[in-house]
Amino acid sequence: MEKMHMTLNAKITQELKNNYEHGLTDKDFQKLVTSLKISNELGQKNTSKLEDTVAELKNCRKCQGLFMCANKVTGHVYYPEKEEERLNFSYVACKYQKEMEQAKSNKQKDLNDIANARMKDIDITDKKRVPIIKWLKNFYDQYEPINNLKGLYLHGSFGSGKTYLIAALLNELALKKHAQVEIVYFPELLRNLKEDFTTLEDKLYYYETVDILFIDDIGAENVTSWGRDEILGTILQSRMNNKLTTFFTSNFTIAELEKHLAITKGSEDVVKARRIIERIKQLTEDLELVSVNRRS
Ligand code: ADP
Ligand code: MG
Repeated sequence: MEKMHMTLNAKITQELKNNYEHGLTDKDFQKLVTSLKISNELGQKNTSKLEDTVAELKNCRKCQGLFMCANKVTGHVYYPEKEEERLNFSYVACKYQKEMEQAKSNKQKDLNDIANARMKDIDITDKKRVPIIKWLKNFYDQYEPINNLKGLYLHGSFGSGKTYLIAALLNELALKKHAQVEIVYFPELLRNLKEDFTTLEDKLYYYETVDILFIDDIGAENVTSWGRDEILGTILQSRMNNKLTTFFTSNFTIAELEKHLAITKGSEDVVKARRIIERIKQLTEDLELVSVNRRS
């Protein structure tokens, strides 16, 4: 009995050893084992899990983004960590997953910043902002629901505070003067309209008629003729006809935006881009904000 038991154990040990040695014939497997600095014994105990890791890492090498993730848990790699004489395997986020999470959290922070922006919190130490802050203050003082003031086309470098400044004014107006305001991130607006065509008319009507509309980051999207002519063109035409206050921010100057909107640069596109620009000019005053990038 004792002898039989021994041979069985020996057999298993031999098999583990063989499997491990077979694993080691793969370059990636070798690399992983070397980087983990594990003993043969520990490796032998974990061959099949290590092979799973290696297979996932091979998937990752060909991968270009979460959309094509071939691993068991999307955006993650089954990966070992050495703890004393043990290997603990867990699902670790890959670089695409981390990027996605970062972008999500940035977006949430931006949304919170926009929702909480108030004029009293505007930092006035930066001299370059003074003309814009004066403009906003003046707008605030003059604003009455009936007087149809022109909005602002505020352009300038990324992170300089354009969105924040206009959001601060509009939040103030909504809270203190009961203005009906809508802040839309332009690329999101297009995505949102495209998602459900049955509600498109209603949504479009809302953007055409809301008291104050703030179109944030115009030019950040890849324009299509649909987005430019059917959506933006329609909204701006109505707002112009009804003299409704409209704000824009952009990383582009108006001249640069015109080029951006002339998608193919063919003559028809050039004319259509010009038409949008004329409406923006009718609706706004043009100011530039150049300042440090406040995004860390
Ligand atoms: P832009 O729209 O020009 O790219 P943002 O308005 O998004 O820039 O501002 C960048 C960051 O700086 C945001 O996190 C914003 O909340 C912050 N920020 C901008 N202006 C101010 C301010 N006056 N006081 C406090 N934080 C600000
Ligand atoms: Mg912005």
